[in-house]
Amino acid sequence: MADTYRLKRCRECGFPRYLDYLIRWNDNGTITHNLQNDFRGVIQHYSFIHGLLPRIGSQLGLSIDHIAFEAQRNASNAVFQALYDKRPSIRFSCRFGFVKRLVVEQFNKMAVATGMCYSNTLEYVPGKYGVARIKNPFDINLMAANVVGGFEVLEGMPFKHSLEQEGDDSYVIRVEATGEKPEISERMALEYPTVLPGNRQYEKCSRCHAPRAIGSLKWMENEGTILDKLSGDRVVVLDGYMISAVFREMAKELGDEVNDILVDAQKDWVIDHAEQLGLVKGEVPLSGEAREKAYRDYMDLILLYGQGNPTALEIGDSQIKVEIENPYEPMILAGSLQGLFEAIEKVAGGVTWESVKEGAVTYAVQPA
Ligand SMILES: [Zn+2]
Repeated sequence: MADTYRLKRCRECGFPRYLDYLIRWNDNGTITHNLQNDFRGVIQHYSFIHGLLPRIGSQLGLSIDHIAFEAQRNASNAVFQALYDKRPSIRFSCRFGFVKRLVVEQFNKMAVATGMCYSNTLEYVPGKYGVARIKNPFDINLMAANVVGGFEVLEGMPFKHSLEQEGDDSYVIRVEATGEKPEISERMALEYPTVLPGNRQYEKCSRCHAPRAIGSLKWMENEGTILDKLSGDRVVVLDGYMISAVFREMAKELGDEVNDILVDAQKDWVIDHAEQLGLVKGEVPLSGEAREKAYRDYMDLILLYGQGNPTALEIGDSQIKVEIENPYEPMILAGSLQGLFEAIEKVAGGVTWESVKEGAVTYAVQPA
């Protein structure tokens, strides 16, 4: 089986054609799946996601791997289930072993194209077990949960897994049918919030459908990674529900404190990367046009990454107000805006937010 991938790219902008087939940018701040147009995707920076769960664990003083794994497995289950429900023919064909093998190869290709990891199948016996090598996972625990969730839907039965670390960021995962009957337990429902229409225009590639600005990303398929040339960080294309689902589950078990950690983690990421992103320079607060431009440039990034549609931005002397329609995860955006404010104004900030209408959140950031 293939152990290298070559993604075919758009000749004009370098965007992988596989992703062009899979996802599209809409005019309302969302990226959606082409096969299922209410299903959102989002671009997230790796060092935010990668450090997030260990950070929560260490702040709470307990391991949250198990909670995160179960939440992600359920999210992955729901994601694949939704795709199958949309296309009953897939479900029918997946009774055949050779189709299952093709689907498993698609899992690998999708993992590489989305920058989640590099994976290749080592062994696969339909209905029984699969073994794969995973390199550079965006988070090994969540990646394992994705694999287990994918197999459970494909095979229609519960799976378990074991992981063996081979090297620095290289693992062998084995997934195995548990032999149990499919549980009819309550699956974690994904929430599909109201999506408002928009009229944002992207400057698009003349050959494919990708926004021109996505040219700042570089696909390194044999690493299973995508490099953001601006921030120098890796990015991952994730489904737009995973983080929310994981955090909803964790908040149920551990309380709202986990949400504050989420806001803080994203805030810190933006502060740490504001200079690489070209938003700020040095330790002096921005003023005048440069200040306004920095805020506006970041709004463009929110839009480009499918995180929402910033429809109003008020830049006051000492505070900012932002309205974002279709926010993909209101708390991550809260952290982003607080971090942006602190990076630009060079003062500690405080962020508050409220949902004034369905599908929109208004944020205010001011000195703390
Ligand atoms: Zn293109």
